[in-house]
Amino acid sequence: MRTIPEAGKLLLSVIIPCFNEEKSLPVLIDRLEPLLCSAFGSDRWEIILVNDGSHDMTESCIENINQVFPNVWGISLTRNFGHQPALYTGLQNSGGEICALMDADMQDPPEILLDLIRIVHSGEQDVAYGVRANREAGPLIKACYKGFYRLMGSISEHPWQVDAGDFCAMNRRAVNMILSFPERDKFLRGLRSWVGLRQLGVSYSRPKRLLGKSRYNYSRLYLLAMKGVVGFSTIPLRIASFLSLGSGLFCALVAGLLMINRIFPAFTLFGYNIGANQGIATLAVMLLLVSSAILAALGIIGEYLAVVLVEVKQRPVSFISRIIKA
Ligand code: UDP
Ligand code: MG
Repeated sequence: MRTIPEAGKLLLSVIIPCFNEEKSLPVLIDRLEPLLCSAFGSDRWEIILVNDGSHDMTESCIENINQVFPNVWGISLTRNFGHQPALYTGLQNSGGEICALMDADMQDPPEILLDLIRIVHSGEQDVAYGVRANREAGPLIKACYKGFYRLMGSISEHPWQVDAGDFCAMNRRAVNMILSFPERDKFLRGLRSWVGLRQLGVSYSRPKRLLGKSRYNYSRLYLLAMKGVVGFSTIPLRIASFLSLGSGLFCALVAGLLMINRIFPAFTLFGYNIGANQGIATLAVMLLLVSSAILAALGIIGEYLAVVLVEVKQRPVSFISRIIKA
């Protein structure tokens, strides 16, 4: 639901989630504002800065920006809800016929954003999204990202957009579809590809963060990846049942062989006397194998259960503490 009054027929809303971005924001707006003005005039667009419970001066920085550029305004959330809820709240409060999503830290180049917007504005595509052809990052993190997108490409139940983040432009039709999803746990890039429509990926090189540190450390990235896997594939659950089935069959086989060996002590398998093992090695190995399969299956089920729990609680995605608009 849009919280501020309808600002007439806006062509474009650019939504930017901000967590501790007091240093990056002025640089970004200084670059983005003139680009939007020269492309679309000064009164047909808005930039919505979603302050996601920042601990620094981001909120007063948004106030200052709004005083200079009235169509750049802000939403402050009541606490830090996370990148995806911040983007979603921005979408809910946007009024533009086209919505664009980008980060505040200059990792999504404003010039490429303009290209994405132009593609959607031309009416040729419903969605245009950035594809990270390469990124300035360490080799391990690069490998993790690459691995995740490839994994999602192979296990997702719908065509997954490989190497694409949230950086995109979408027309109102696509935005309304995304806003209509009832699920609480939003993974926007997954929902975006899920809706179908006409979509085009545009390659770009993702630079380093301008200032500050990424919020996504390895454990947060793991949680985000889990969100993607659990939200868009049931294959791990199937693996869990195959694991249980596999370990069950293995147990039955070994139990059968042991029984045969007990009745016919001369029975061997490839010369190996199954029942004659004096030590505990066989037992220990079997036990470890079966119990690890069971634990793996339980872990996978737990991941899905956590998502079910979030969905059952039906909590709002975020709460707004104030609208920053003069
Ligand atoms: N962000 C946010 N809430 C958070 C974490 C991040 O709104 O809890 C914003 C952040 O300010 C930035 C964008 O989301 O504009 C992407 O965050 P970050 O740069 O940390 O992620 P990365 O680019 O490393 O994926
Ligand atoms: Mg970043």
